[in-house]
Amino acid sequence: MHAADSDEPAAKAPIPKSAAAPPVLVDTKRVRAHVFELASAKYEGRKGKGAELAARYVAAEFQKLGLEPLFNKSYFQVFEKEPTDPMRGRNVGGVLRGGDRALRDEWIVVSAHHDHLGVRDGRLYPGADDDASGIAMLVETARIAATGREKPKRSIMFISFDLEERGLYGSRFFVGDPPIPLDRVKLFITADLIGGSLAGIENPYVFVMGVEHVPSFAPRLYDAARGLDVIKVGALGTDIVGVRSDYGPFRARGIPYLFFSTGENPRYHTPDDKPETIDYAKLTAIIELVSRFVEGAARADSLPPWTAPGTPRIDEAIVLRDIMKLLNDHKDMLKIKPFQAGLLARELDELEGAVKRGSITPAERGRAVRVAQLIMITVL
Ligand SMILES: [Zn+2]
Repeated sequence: MHAADSDEPAAKAPIPKSAAAPPVLVDTKRVRAHVFELASAKYEGRKGKGAELAARYVAAEFQKLGLEPLFNKSYFQVFEKEPTDPMRGRNVGGVLRGGDRALRDEWIVVSAHHDHLGVRDGRLYPGADDDASGIAMLVETARIAATGREKPKRSIMFISFDLEERGLYGSRFFVGDPPIPLDRVKLFITADLIGGSLAGIENPYVFVMGVEHVPSFAPRLYDAARGLDVIKVGALGTDIVGVRSDYGPFRARGIPYLFFSTGENPRYHTPDDKPETIDYAKLTAIIELVSRFVEGAARADSLPPWTAPGTPRIDEAIVLRDIMKLLNDHKDMLKIKPFQAGLLARELDELEGAVKRGSITPAERGRAVRVAQLIMITVL
């Protein structure tokens, strides 16, 4: 077993099968309202003035929830994209102070990004999935944390980053000029595209990247998903997708992170990323999952440190097998070429073998990841 598991005996305790699933606290009507509002024409695709309006929307929500402003009595952290570039960005941050004297100086960061691609050639890019879905997560997770039954022990900051689409400028600026020393951030969570399905094929997966650095989070995630029948947690190594969202700058500093995403679909970065295309049952369940996980992490006696990825995990192999099966079953619809279809079928066989055996070697994993990347590049 991985070293990180050893200091956390509680995470290993089996979950009694009879344990009732906790109630769902996330209100799907509110989730819908956030996405429809932020993806509406008024926000101009959340670029320039529209991004500023979106930042103000998030700040107003934080204020209503009674979160403290994060940046010197302000909810806004304003920055220049680059010294030579007059484009400005605006991160939005709110704070919920922890109630435990010993743990309140440890921080959990929950985030999403409010910017998107704007209006191009007169066409609105609504960015409902990218990333109004994540902002709905951010605000509703903050609501549950702020109004929940139990005050968190650790402190939580909720951040909406700007200029993510331009190259993670908001999160990069934040780690370069943080309001607290970064070594106090024990966990970073972000979500980007959590209201769809990979490749546009209906499936229950929400992928969670980053578990490879904190393996003891896996059982906690599975536990947090209890009773959320419309979703399935798919823990995947970050190397499969690379740095695709605001976890990048935190990952580079060795801060444990989790990245939630349902993956790209054909509407990604097109004018068709509209609020009516979002799967609200799935989105609501994912927000509930994140919210439960954050609640658990905020009151845990200790949080695991960052570790280098260890032995490949069989639960990851199962997820890879399921994705390949999904792609293989839809290869005509996805216009997968015969050469790639052959690769896909062979890899699917290999993964079936590994899953039956109950283990996967680093070399087998490496090949599965390369095939997955190759096919994804073609279909997305
Ligand atoms: Zn994007």
